[in-house]
Amino acid sequence: MKLFLSGNEAIAFGLMEAGVRFLTAYPGTPSSEVLPAAAEIKKRFNLNAYIEWSVNEKVAIEEATAASFCNVPSACVMKQVGLNVGMDPFMNTALVGTVGGFVLVVADDPGPHSSQTEQDSRFMAFFAKTPVLEPSTPKEAYKFSKEALSLSKRYEIPVMLRTTTRVSHSREDIEIGNIEDSGLSVEFKKDRDRYAATPHFRFILHKRLNEKLEKIKIENEIEEHFNGDTLIITSGISFAYICDIVEEFGLENKVKVLRIKMPFPLDESKIQKYIDEYGSAIVIEEGYPLIEMQIVDRRDVKGRNDGTVPKEGELTVDVIKSIFAKSGLIDYKKEEVVKPPFKRPSLCPGCGHRSAFYIIRKTFGNRAVYTGDIGCYTLGLNLNAVDTVHCMGASVSFAFGFNKAFSLDKNSKPIVATIGDSTFFHSGITPLIDAVHNRSPFILVILDNSTVAMTGNQTTPANETGASEHNKKPVSIEKIVEAIGVEFLRIRDAYDIEGMKEDLEAAKGYIENNDLPAVLIFRHPCVYTKEGLESNIRFEDVYIEQDKCTGCKVCIKDFECPSLVYNEETNKVFIDATTCIKCGQCVVSCPFDAIRVKR
Ligand code: SF4
Ligand code: SF4
Repeated sequence: MKLFLSGNEAIAFGLMEAGVRFLTAYPGTPSSEVLPAAAEIKKRFNLNAYIEWSVNEKVAIEEATAASFCNVPSACVMKQVGLNVGMDPFMNTALVGTVGGFVLVVADDPGPHSSQTEQDSRFMAFFAKTPVLEPSTPKEAYKFSKEALSLSKRYEIPVMLRTTTRVSHSREDIEIGNIEDSGLSVEFKKDRDRYAATPHFRFILHKRLNEKLEKIKIENEIEEHFNGDTLIITSGISFAYICDIVEEFGLENKVKVLRIKMPFPLDESKIQKYIDEYGSAIVIEEGYPLIEMQIVDRRDVKGRNDGTVPKEGELTVDVIKSIFAKSGLIDYKKEEVVKPPFKRPSLCPGCGHRSAFYIIRKTFGNRAVYTGDIGCYTLGLNLNAVDTVHCMGASVSFAFGFNKAFSLDKNSKPIVATIGDSTFFHSGITPLIDAVHNRSPFILVILDNSTVAMTGNQTTPANETGASEHNKKPVSIEKIVEAIGVEFLRIRDAYDIEGMKEDLEAAKGYIENNDLPAVLIFRHPCVYTKEGLESNIRFEDVYIEQDKCTGCKVCIKDFECPSLVYNEETNKVFIDATTCIKCGQCVVSCPFDAIRVKR
């Protein structure tokens, strides 16, 4: 059957066709579509498979590792920063080895388009000593997914499939094979020297891992393309771009392209032979110089290290053309493109987070320190209610750290941390335990919209539905907060601006007189979920009385709803009816009472 698939959907088809029957993931752009696609495949082909959104990447890797130990072909999916969270188990999974096959799919985001870092996950594979396959197209993503599981089974080693935003999100016609259950033989064969090895025996496991890598290295074939005198070594999406450039400029007899499917483990001697034969080489790879650094004699190698290839940013077609031009291969000057004016990202019209940030900022002003977190609510930045964004859960640990640091100087600035519901489950619970145990007074606002909104409205542990099974036991955020020992807890609808103000004032009073954090849960369903769409408050109309509007733009500055638009001709604000959801939340932001609602 031929299907028009994105790279992420192709990975799901490849994995399920190869026999993966245990799949875990934590959502994160650009990887989020793999797991829902696999859940659809499970349903469509009635497969005996377990698929879940895990609470975080560490848990996802551990669960899939355990399933692999039971001889169940397993896979785990995440974005690059997610692997930072999962590195602890991943290092050990590599050392102990797998049984039924284990593929770790990691999607990198060079650019970066929607991430905190530009890191190259292939280095994590190198660090953990696991093979990494790197597709350059969606079709290869499908093919390499199957090859990754096969390699993993043969060598009892986890195999990383590293994709990037462009491969994950581009589409291609792909011929898909048969997908059916072939029967699982689920068994955990106890072997304490392996699965519970004490440090004394760990070096034996390390030796076995090194032996596996030596064998895999020999299997790692290098593809040759074209027939010229300039040697180019490449992998992943860069290979696809280079092929296009060769065709566009007719370079078939000018370049020799070596394509590396598996950037680690590499047989350096094979590559060195080519370099010796051609006298020099240019290495072009998306991310950090992994292939380049494995070349032992780099005296005649150009790439990231000598600045031929830029050290940061995405290797787009234009960038690679510029590298070719610099190397004398083509005549190329990048065309100046007139970029549209920058429009900063913004919370959606009607988002409850906006109302929460608005009133947090109004209550605490400029003096407070606002620690933020990873999710749509990072955009509290636009409402001046986020001063730091670091990594998942850091809003809570930063609030704690700031509080303890300030106390060393008898400084008593209020600190307000904001974190989303899914991020709280992922990494916010442990720092809250630390803050309670070590008696740190700050305000933690959990912005609960009952979904992982930023990455496509995936479920959280508080939901009854999951990725494939829908009988989940919801886990209560408030009960967790209470169980940790928080004594001040209030829950409020995030559309109740007056109520939130009351809670924030009360929390402020509490932390001034107590030495524990105060927790507020401001809850309102994401307006783009089914629940949000059905249950959200809608007025018949929300409009701006043009006679009253002074054009001061306070509403735009303080409330920042994208539906509030300044008209340069009339010098007044109007509401864009095509995007406004008529929630009426902006009414509070106008000092002149110009924003009106019709019930
Ligand atoms: S705050 Fe009120 S008066 Fe000022 S621009 Fe907005 S709607 Fe007009
Ligand atoms: S009513 Fe106001 S806050 Fe709500 S979507 Fe419209 S402009 Fe935005």
